[in-house]
Amino acid sequence: MKIDGIIRGWYEKNRRDLPWRHTGDPYKIWLSEIILQQTRVQQGLNYYLDFIKVFPDVNSLALASEDKVLKQWQGLGYYSRARNLHRAAKDVVEQMEGEIPRTYDGLIKLKGVGNYTASAIASICFGEPRAVVDGNVSRVIARLYGVEEPINSTMGIKSIAFLAHELLDKDDPGNHNQAIMEFGALHCVPHSPDCSTCPLFHPCEARRTGRVDQLPVKIPKRKPVEQWMYFYIIICNGETLFSKRGTDGIWSSLYQFPVVESNLPLSEEEMLGTKLDQLIRGADYEGEEERVPTGISERVPPGKSERVPTGISERVSTGKSERVPMDKSEGVSTGKSDGVSTGKSDRVPTGISERVPTGIRSLWPDKLTIGKISDPIRHQLTHRTIHARFIHVETGTWPDPLPAGWIKISLEQVDDFPVPRLINRYMEVVKI
Ligand code: SF4
Repeated sequence: MKIDGIIRGWYEKNRRDLPWRHTGDPYKIWLSEIILQQTRVQQGLNYYLDFIKVFPDVNSLALASEDKVLKQWQGLGYYSRARNLHRAAKDVVEQMEGEIPRTYDGLIKLKGVGNYTASAIASICFGEPRAVVDGNVSRVIARLYGVEEPINSTMGIKSIAFLAHELLDKDDPGNHNQAIMEFGALHCVPHSPDCSTCPLFHPCEARRTGRVDQLPVKIPKRKPVEQWMYFYIIICNGETLFSKRGTDGIWSSLYQFPVVESNLPLSEEEMLGTKLDQLIRGADYEGEEERVPTGISERVPPGKSERVPTGISERVSTGKSERVPMDKSEGVSTGKSDGVSTGKSDRVPTGISERVPTGIRSLWPDKLTIGKISDPIRHQLTHRTIHARFIHVETGTWPDPLPAGWIKISLEQVDDFPVPRLINRYMEVVKI
């Protein structure tokens, strides 16, 4: 039997019963493929089902606000997928009379649709003979044919694409593609696949030459960048503050508590004093280029530029000490913690009251009380390791006007806004 027939036979016996395998609706296949690009099936399944409930077709998705789409996507990560899907749905409705393109060439022009997704939709929904190549397919083919080039190199990608097309069942490309992806996901798994029961035992080059654990070859990923983020949960009379991230960088267009971002951990003094002051006043400090937080300049309040300080010395407390109660904190982030802590460690930093700079009080009409501070929370993204701390702050009055870009929302509304998974995780554990 030919190899594609063997894989297909395995698939008929072993495939998982997944909802997108019961439909030829290109919108649903499109959605499932976008979700599954960076997400395991088990996690993506519920998102798919919920998304289809809220946005059952391309029209309903196109008509929704971006915030609503991002909220539905919250927790899945890689939010550009959701924004691109939304943009493409709008294009389909506005420029294509609501008809999703029926060919690879038409599909690949949609925002966020690349070679993989266009091939999947074209083959599964419209029978176009296009081979899909995802991580599972690459692994199966690299082992089956003994491909030596790294599968994430230009040459490797070309070799795998060529072999995948050669292997494709041109008469039934949709089922063939799903079969080989499923075979890679369930049987020819990355570590210790069960070759002894594999239907490709005989033709498999990697098994025959004893290189199963060496293939596929991959160029190692670069080391993730370390980043420290300090979120300030400022509460006043049942309201808190959010800002919306810009359209570049991580978590674009999502909402967050006012944040200081740094490429180094901050000291307690910076976290509770100078940086908090800087954040609230929308000001930069001289001589701290390496730690200048992003997005601060957007927060300079209109008409407040004359209050921008010129040096740290101006912000030293006058010595009229406010009592600033706070829960205990571990101080500077060690970046070792994976959990979400409510800040119950033993050490109480001293002198906090002196560290709340007078600058804050000049902008803020009421005193700010520093509450609990979370332990460092480690959050891993593909190219970035984030060490986050959440600093709870209470006040009796909002400044008027608020710094530009800050939005005042009631605590009941917080759950309505799409936020990064890191913030969502924290709010699931710590009620604000
Ligand atoms: S024999 Fe082993 S390495 Fe080869 S395809 Fe089967 S499971 Fe994968």
